[in-house]
Amino acid sequence: MHFKLNLCAFSCNFLHLLRSNIPLKHSSLYFYCTKIIPENPKPYILKQCIALLQACASSNYKLKQIHAFSIKHGVPLNNPLLGKHLIFFSVSLSESMSYAHKIFSQIENPNIFTWNTLIRGYAFSDYPKPAIDLYTQMRFDLVEPDTHTFPFLLKAISKLLDVKLGKKVHCIVIRNGYESLVFVQNGLVHLYAVCECPESAYKMFEKMPVRNIVTWNSVINGFALNGKPDEVLNFFKKMSFVGVVPDGFTMVSLLSACAELGALALGRRVHVYMFKVGLNVNMHEGNALLDLYAKCGRISEAKIVFDEIRNKSVVSWTTLIVGLAVNGLGSEAIDLFKEMEVKELAPTDITLVGLLYACSHCGMVDEGFDYFNQMTERYGITPRIEHYGCIVDLLGRAGKIKQAYEFIKSMPLQPNAVIWRTLLGACSIHGHLALAQTARAKLLELDPKHCGDYVLLSNLYASEHRWMDVHQLRDKMVKEGVRKTPGFSLVELRNRVHEFVMGDRSHPQDKEIYAMLREITKVLRLEGYVPNTVNVLADIEEEEKENALTYHSEKIAIAFMLINTLPGTLITVIKNLRVCADCHLAIKLISKIYEREIVVRDRSRFHHFKHGSCSCKDYW
Ligand code: ZN
Ligand code: ZN
Repeated sequence: MHFKLNLCAFSCNFLHLLRSNIPLKHSSLYFYCTKIIPENPKPYILKQCIALLQACASSNYKLKQIHAFSIKHGVPLNNPLLGKHLIFFSVSLSESMSYAHKIFSQIENPNIFTWNTLIRGYAFSDYPKPAIDLYTQMRFDLVEPDTHTFPFLLKAISKLLDVKLGKKVHCIVIRNGYESLVFVQNGLVHLYAVCECPESAYKMFEKMPVRNIVTWNSVINGFALNGKPDEVLNFFKKMSFVGVVPDGFTMVSLLSACAELGALALGRRVHVYMFKVGLNVNMHEGNALLDLYAKCGRISEAKIVFDEIRNKSVVSWTTLIVGLAVNGLGSEAIDLFKEMEVKELAPTDITLVGLLYACSHCGMVDEGFDYFNQMTERYGITPRIEHYGCIVDLLGRAGKIKQAYEFIKSMPLQPNAVIWRTLLGACSIHGHLALAQTARAKLLELDPKHCGDYVLLSNLYASEHRWMDVHQLRDKMVKEGVRKTPGFSLVELRNRVHEFVMGDRSHPQDKEIYAMLREITKVLRLEGYVPNTVNVLADIEEEEKENALTYHSEKIAIAFMLINTLPGTLITVIKNLRVCADCHLAIKLISKIYEREIVVRDRSRFHHFKHGSCSCKDYW
């Protein structure tokens, strides 16, 4: 009786201690509890430790304390029961997987529960590959998978975008008779949606006799991740039609699809809907809203959403920093980063990409270099190729072409096509033919059929009036079958997204649009606008101008919006390629003459046109 009482007191005190923030070894209880343990404590200690793990699995720190405690009191490292619990709580706390894996490797013959737990941990982590290796190992050890194995495995495969492996696992699922389980089906639908297999996704979806909210979210989220916003909206409509009530996850997918499409009005409706049905804007939904407004060029609204997010995560800060940077508000992005540092939030590698991008677009060469040099030591982030790319861009923009080239040569990583392309772009803007040819030679090795490179080099030749080279380059492009990415522009009018391609004549308002375009050209000429002949000849990126009446898609889109919106309404255009110099100049003048603010989101950045000038300061 006396012993039981003691045990109870020990548990209560120990629990209290673990729930507090006092480190175990600093407490007098530690001394106390190490003294009350009888001589051969194993079964009793084991039970205690498991109970404690279950009761207070709230921080990895305490998890490791309990683990240390168990070792100290004779519980062997390979104890499967304790191991199973440690792995489970370590994974549930989504801490680093290496600890869980180390414990796992100590256990002899782990059971299926333990295998599944570790596979789940990797599937939900940022590095899902080991989940696949674990599954292979598990089968090698002749452990049979169960109903829980496949949803986790499919999740990992979806993240890796390995549809080939996904199909193999699908066959195994069928062989094992698990295909009829709704959560396995959800995993498969998501896999196919995310891996650009819309037909398989549809087929799987149609086959499902029971569809729960997770099913709908799986397919909607899959298409959103795969950059298929139309499919997302389609499924959302279907979902509403059959009366399934969307939840927060649905909203996040929907918002990211709207952000991708630049469908601001639709995104706003989602925002209003969330407000109306009382869906609390938590961190994830807040971040998605923030991303929507930033990607639609509405940075002041993005800031409001940011201020309203109660538990801002690093993702929230990063989204706004990147948003400010790409919208041309570099110094604000840097200020926000400094604020984040004051709050002692650790930036991620993406935060630093945004920061370096901001420095580069503000011409802050020294600051950019400082941040880059401090990455490893101060922020604990090893620079990736993207960060090196930012520095090449930083130097290139500032006109320090030679320095940029020296920097590339000194890189510890193998420079990829993007790095050389950045240098080529800088050369073409600052007129450095010799290094442009060096960069071009590298690009021919790494990515010979990229049409953008032909454009950059061709622009450079054209600016030097080397027309023979321009024509030769164009012939070569045709001969080698370099495919031009078709350009298109999207605008949203009254909850509908309208798409235009070059010289588009398919729109019902075709006649009015072209009359408007002719008027625009006339008015622009009066303002002294001369079509940019260099680009007419050289801009072969997408939309060659066969004659003066063939307009690039963004001009058509703007004409369409000028006809259909009230004076003073802001116009937003989403373009899939880079804006050409001729359109850039024309849009600047349109913004002045028609007194409209025009936002163009092109392949890599935003242009905010206002009163005849652009936020990119003519460098893009
Ligand atoms: Zn153009
Ligand atoms: Zn611009």
